[in-house]
Amino acid sequence: MMQCYDEMLSTAQALGFEVIEESIPSDCDGLYLWPYRLIVIDQNLPEYVRRCTLCHELVHAEHDDRGCGSRTGMAAEARTRRETALHLIDVPKYKLAEEMYDGDSSKIASELNVTRQVVEDFRSWLQNQEPRRIVMKAC
Ligand SMILES: [Zn+2]
Repeated sequence: MMQCYDEMLSTAQALGFEVIEESIPSDCDGLYLWPYRLIVIDQNLPEYVRRCTLCHELVHAEHDDRGCGSRTGMAAEARTRRETALHLIDVPKYKLAEEMYDGDSSKIASELNVTRQVVEDFRSWLQNQEPRRIVMKAC
């Protein structure tokens, strides 16, 4: 997908969600308020963080996630972080950045215009994709 912020806003609207930017008085970057089909993004964040946050909240919205905290909420959060990373990063670009910056997640994040969290989430997904090496033990 790899859309810019404005394209994501259009996608959200096309799906029937309203997106507003406000100051959020907590350490939350964004919220999805399911009864109102409303996504709130913290207006004080830099654009690349707002982009990641909007993508994250949009994944919650598309899955109709209703709050977190419960066991289902935690599973939904893990799935949302994984899908967000997959929306925002593509494999060839990631692999190139990983080589260029010797695996430094902060530098990879700034190269790919995403947060470090998104890079970490992408990396965990990628590690689960690669076939596990078979370790031959001599005994
Ligand atoms: Zn979330």
